[in-house]
Amino acid sequence: MATPRPQSSNFALRVRHFQQNSPQPTPFQLTAYLCSTSSTDPDSKDLALQYGFRVSDHMAALNIHPNEASVTAISRLAAAKGDGDYAFEVVKTLVDYQVPPRLRTYEPALFCFCQKLEADKAYQVEEEINNMGLSLEEPQIAALLKLSADTGREERVYNYLHKLRRSVRWISEETGKILEDWFLCKKSEIGSEGAKYDVGSVKESILRNGGGWHGLGWIGEGKWVVRKGNVEPNGRCCCCGEQLDCVDIDDVETEKFALSVAGLAMEREVKANFRAFQDWLGKNANYDAIVDGANIGLYQQNFAEGGFSVLQLDAVVKEMYTRNGNKWPLVILHNKRVRALLENLSSRKLVEEWKANGVLYTTPHGSNDDWYWLYAAVKLRCLLVTNDEMRDHIFELLGSSFFIKWKERHQVRYTFLKGTLKLQMPPTYSIVIQESEKGSWHVPIVCNRDEETLRTWLCITRPGACEEGGKTCEIDDGPCCKSPISEAGENGNHEKSNDKGTSMTESGFERLKLHKLEQTFMKIEVYIRQMTAGRMESQGMLPSQTDANPQENVSVITLRSGTVIVPPIQENDVTCSQKKKS
Ligand SMILES: [Zn+2]
Repeated sequence: MATPRPQSSNFALRVRHFQQNSPQPTPFQLTAYLCSTSSTDPDSKDLALQYGFRVSDHMAALNIHPNEASVTAISRLAAAKGDGDYAFEVVKTLVDYQVPPRLRTYEPALFCFCQKLEADKAYQVEEEINNMGLSLEEPQIAALLKLSADTGREERVYNYLHKLRRSVRWISEETGKILEDWFLCKKSEIGSEGAKYDVGSVKESILRNGGGWHGLGWIGEGKWVVRKGNVEPNGRCCCCGEQLDCVDIDDVETEKFALSVAGLAMEREVKANFRAFQDWLGKNANYDAIVDGANIGLYQQNFAEGGFSVLQLDAVVKEMYTRNGNKWPLVILHNKRVRALLENLSSRKLVEEWKANGVLYTTPHGSNDDWYWLYAAVKLRCLLVTNDEMRDHIFELLGSSFFIKWKERHQVRYTFLKGTLKLQMPPTYSIVIQESEKGSWHVPIVCNRDEETLRTWLCITRPGACEEGGKTCEIDDGPCCKSPISEAGENGNHEKSNDKGTSMTESGFERLKLHKLEQTFMKIEVYIRQMTAGRMESQGMLPSQTDANPQENVSVITLRSGTVIVPPIQENDVTCSQKKKS
């Protein structure tokens, strides 16, 4: 992982940082990197941009293929100049060289357009990112959300809020501020299509989506109330009293997940056996909980007399029966274990009792019962009692992020303390952005403290959308509910503050510093030319690919950005071709 970029203007520090992260950088990469980092420093920005573009033009003139890092650096330079179009153009050239761009490659153009409120261009960059199969992360989604809010596109804001919900579990303080600003602005008061949906269809959507969101649009009209507060351990919002959902994966994802489990099981198990199980499950789908029999029977049995504890398993079966309103769970157990249990008189009675109650499914000889219990739990959207963390290689094959989400919602863990069973049920609510059937939003903010009840949530309600005429939304702040944000008077200044007076740049000291920086850039540039010349000569490439400087000692360079630069001439300068641009 890359270490954070040094903020200091210390030149040597930057070089070292770059070298640590790029073991074998080309001189071009190095300079482009230096220029792009220097361009964030107001003192050296102009100089850095000037030299950065020159490096870019040298590269083009010498016909050197850019890589992702150098294009990203050049794109950052363009963005620092406020030229989003060029920042985007240069990224597109990567396709010509069949170099796959990364998300960071698009960031300069995207952020530049967002900052300048050039909404359509920013959406175009987003489209390109999607086309490349890359996924937006919080900073990009937040920037697009802010842009959409600032340009009053409430439907876009709604969609980005959902995108955020899908991408991150909780948001940063900065993103929270963007949301607050949106919900407190006049434009957010207008209702959209969502207002037309009736309560029934909203509820149905939430159910189909696995809970926690409906995605139908803003509900209701009028002012929003934004508060900051906590959520009680039972999932109740301290600010508005609403109950948060424990969010499951949606119907479509669940079905896909079940199919992929079945597909993998079919590859590894005797096909006929697994198909027989699927058929059986189809006819006996009335279970609310699946029990991983072996995991429970073998729990803490690694002592001398230990074996398979049928009593532990029976305790779990009976506990689940009681908890699920006198409904038996399904225990999956391998036939070699069942056979052993039947041979023993003391356990035989229990096994027969399970069989009589339809509790037991015996997996056949040669099977891996993991596939059976996992498939049953996914397919029937059941609880799954097991302490297996499912990190085995077979689960890695499923490797999707929603597997984690699925486990959180479905897995029941257990302990036996001095022989007494204790079940650890799934959490009562999920720490994710949630949209309720009333149209309110609950947004978790990043929290560095261990205790979940200390986490701050944004509680965003719309009294005008509530059936009870806003009764629930206008309750006084509870003990743990902080004041509405609108009165907080926070200063959302995202710009990097520059507290240096203008006199600094006018001082002799500052001029000296800039002069030294310029000299360093010039030295690097010469070094690059020498390096490149040497490298190309050794490859027998140079003479035919560079033009002699027609003016012998003056090279006027017109940048693609339109800037014309007359560079200072060095004695030992290696000829650089003039950029030919009509
Ligand atoms: Zn609330």
